[in-house]
Amino acid sequence: MGFHSKNCHECGHSMLSSHATSGRNEWMSDVIAITSHGDLHSGEYDGYGGIGGADFFMAGLDDSTSYHVACWEMEGKPMEYRGDSDHAEDQGFFFAGPQHDLPDPRTVSADVFEGAKSDAERYDPTNPPEECHDCGEECDGLEAWQDDFDVALCEGCAEDRRADEEEDALV
Ligand SMILES: [Zn+2]
Ligand SMILES: [Zn+2]
Repeated sequence: MGFHSKNCHECGHSMLSSHATSGRNEWMSDVIAITSHGDLHSGEYDGYGGIGGADFFMAGLDDSTSYHVACWEMEGKPMEYRGDSDHAEDQGFFFAGPQHDLPDPRTVSADVFEGAKSDAERYDPTNPPEECHDCGEECDGLEAWQDDFDVALCEGCAEDRRADEEEDALV
């Protein structure tokens, strides 16, 4: 079975393969699932449907309520099965933007978390920004500046920034 994931019952974002997390959203690969039989599995999500070494089908995870552990804790650690969680379209792996760039809800206020969530959800991978962040020109082939998807640059501006960085490095 290939990459596969479910969406968290609470926040609606997918359980992420630990290979697809950045520092900030590492918490999204720490997950827990309660199966329709009442079994509880928690641990690191392996990206292939397994949680903490439990197999997706063998362990009954194909019919389970899934959460990020952080979201589950914020929700008061519910122990009961609440219906089969949705399958994640991006399979917890196939995304190339800040769609899941969320801070751990246990470490920030609810307002900060909701703000980051709506920013992340507004990002549309099929409709990336068309204007350069620095010069405001519209052009094709904008590139994200150093993994910062809010800063899309045209070739010229990206080169300017690289030149500036090199200069700074020489000082
Ligand atoms: Zn969640
Ligand atoms: Zn530009």
